[in-house]
Amino acid sequence: MSTEHLLEVQGLKKYFEAGRPALFSRDTRHVYAVDGVDFNLQRSEVIALVGESGCGKSTLALLLMGLEDPTGGKVTFEGRDITHLNDHQRKDLRRKIQMVFQDPYESLNPTQTIEEIVTEPLTVHGIAPHKAERDERVKKALEDAGLKPADVYLGRYPHELSGGQRQRVVIAAALVLEPEIILADEPVSMLDVSIRAEVINLLAELRITRQIAVIFITHDLGSVGFFADRVAVMYLGRIVEIGTMLEVLESPQHPYTKALISVIPVPNPRLRHERIILQGETPNPINVPSGCRFHPRCPVAMDACKASDPPMITLSKTHQAACLLLVK
Ligand code: SF4
Repeated sequence: MSTEHLLEVQGLKKYFEAGRPALFSRDTRHVYAVDGVDFNLQRSEVIALVGESGCGKSTLALLLMGLEDPTGGKVTFEGRDITHLNDHQRKDLRRKIQMVFQDPYESLNPTQTIEEIVTEPLTVHGIAPHKAERDERVKKALEDAGLKPADVYLGRYPHELSGGQRQRVVIAAALVLEPEIILADEPVSMLDVSIRAEVINLLAELRITRQIAVIFITHDLGSVGFFADRVAVMYLGRIVEIGTMLEVLESPQHPYTKALISVIPVPNPRLRHERIILQGETPNPINVPSGCRFHPRCPVAMDACKASDPPMITLSKTHQAACLLLVK
């Protein structure tokens, strides 16, 4: 195992029971929400995890947070196996891996002041028991999240803030624990277009000023193009392609990645290319197609694709190379 990775995920799986197919059947069906995910994350690296809704991105985030127990695979954080933790170990891990959810309206308790909201994680984890130190950490977290001067915000309630400011409070409540990783699950999709860039810029700043690694979960590849180091494209519970953002944007290999990139809006009409509209719906994760799970929708599928599954495409292995492995 490499110690240079902050986080290492190997063959991670999460299957949920989905009842029986028929009344007297002995079989149990499963939802294959996450079905063999491999990737690693370096310190202060930003990875964009991209895919359609229902592809398993959010379940993967819950697994990494220890909020779901995996069905299989392994997760290592700072060289320590964190795949199955007891409650005490899990609580400890949450200091290091914090999550920012999509909806800043639902994430904040409307009856608490901003000071109470940002102080609460310290109280829960028993950090900074002395008031002066606690206050200092809360103010620093608010200011690092762009709410300056912090004193102006401490006594306010969430309803007195804009959507963007609320999401900054959510980020401050994560920062106050001084995490190593922020898992941001669609953090800007509920915000006005005008303030999305501000929140993304803030996360980009934090990875430099606080050396925080970010896993940015999104269905919109276009929203993270300029700040993610790498992109991992997820389809039906698997990462099908992973590479540097530049390489994936300029030279996507997997047909699914090509389709996602083709629909990113391009302002300059001369740079626009043909949109690839995939046929059909994403298959139900209870009935994952045989072979390559993308084959029912793939515009270049071959017969072999129905029988064998290609490996994940990485920088060193193109899609053509992956497909050649199928026909050998
Ligand atoms: Fe398409 Fe076949 Fe490649 Fe799957 S393995 S993406 S079906 S060409």
